Amino acid sequence: MAAVADDVTVLHGGVVVTMDSGFRVFRDGAVVVARDRIVAVGHSADILLFYPRAAWKVDLAGRILLPGFINTHVHTSQQLARGIADDVDLMTWLHGRIWPYESHMTEEDSYVSTLLCGIELIRSGVTCFAEAGGQYVSEMARAVELLGLRACLTKSIMDCGEGLPPNWSSCSTDDCIQSQKDLYEKHNNTADGRIRIWFGLRQIMNATDRLLLETRDAAQKLNTGIHMHIAEIPYENQLVMQTKGIDHGTVTYLEKIDFLRSNLLAAHSVWLNTAEIEHFLKSEVKVSHCPASAMRMLGFAPIREMLDSGVCVSLGTDGAPSNNRMSIVDEMYLACLINKGREAYITGTTNPTVLPAETVLKMATINGAKAVLWDNEIGSLAVGKKADMVIANPFTWSMVPMHDCIANIVYCMRTENIESVMCNGRWIMRDKKIVNLNEEEVIASAGKRASDLLARAGINLPNRMNYV
Ligand SMILES: [Zn+2]
Repeated sequence: MAAVADDVTVLHGGVVVTMDSGFRVFRDGAVVVARDRIVAVGHSADILLFYPRAAWKVDLAGRILLPGFINTHVHTSQQLARGIADDVDLMTWLHGRIWPYESHMTEEDSYVSTLLCGIELIRSGVTCFAEAGGQYVSEMARAVELLGLRACLTKSIMDCGEGLPPNWSSCSTDDCIQSQKDLYEKHNNTADGRIRIWFGLRQIMNATDRLLLETRDAAQKLNTGIHMHIAEIPYENQLVMQTKGIDHGTVTYLEKIDFLRSNLLAAHSVWLNTAEIEHFLKSEVKVSHCPASAMRMLGFAPIREMLDSGVCVSLGTDGAPSNNRMSIVDEMYLACLINKGREAYITGTTNPTVLPAETVLKMATINGAKAVLWDNEIGSLAVGKKADMVIANPFTWSMVPMHDCIANIVYCMRTENIESVMCNGRWIMRDKKIVNLNEEEVIASAGKRASDLLARAGINLPNRMNYV
């Protein structure tokens, strides 16, 4: 019997990696999209029989169809700061480069920065991201709406802290909470439901206890998430131990004040001990592991231990000045390598079975969806879920031959293998062309704005070599 719906898109003839509850992979599979949702997943022969009059048929010709990747830690406002803080110590990074940069940013800078970042995210197959916190959420929302992406947007929130730029004093606790409630009111569930507004906390050194607890309560009341940098560097833990009188770091303290909840997305989470991993597990806190950024700035996170214990660990790129490459494809590869290397480093013996490809692919898809509290609608190719999908072309020098599709996706695939991206049932990149905006114009505008912004912020980068 033929289905009645004509107004559907049938993508067929591809390797369909569903990441569904059974982790099914269809060797010759098809997915049917009606408006913004997936209405069928199955073998190509069955689906084509069932939808003979589909309005659009896309022959994938053996390409790989995947759920859109979810990048759970992104600083869209920092995209124009790529390259301003390479190879510098952490205090220079923060006080000498990033804070002056961010505090001199205009609303239009934030808009263009988000567009540029969004282009790179889409090109690496990302359909949804979690913003770590910037100043101008309305501008981020404007850019995300145009790009066609899905996002959990967050304001950068600090109500205390030392060394902040003079033109950028921290706001009162009440203002911090109220401004986020206002943003929620204005932007949550906008852009056809693609934008959600979360609460932000920059890090524990910039948050009073009152801010922490009122953020916890406000987010719970609005049924939304909280995004916070947690246990990034040893200094953070040392300071918390000194000032709060506890025996370990940030997570121990957050547990003590009953802050940890299942709607908390803990970015980085590098310096955790065993007890703290248990706290995360018990409270169902989600983690964003950012391998490249961790290697540059932070250290080895206990990812294998967290995954073994059952903590939901997802993947993020962090911002451009911490990583430079905003590619979740690269992060998958790095997550495998770094955590295998860490094993040899801490145990004195190698263990290549740590973080296998299928685990890392889960981190970039279904775990990412859980981390952004959206797994009822995204993170896998399943009937009823939103049509957020990626087409990768494996017939290139980088991926041929393909004996094991899952291993090739994680170990061989490059950003350049991502060919088309659909979010919410609409193509946002088609055959490597960004659909909703003029990429060249954004690139030209971003270059000029970045130079102007650096000059305004008084940031002068030293010459590394003898320029003549
Ligand atoms: Zn960050």
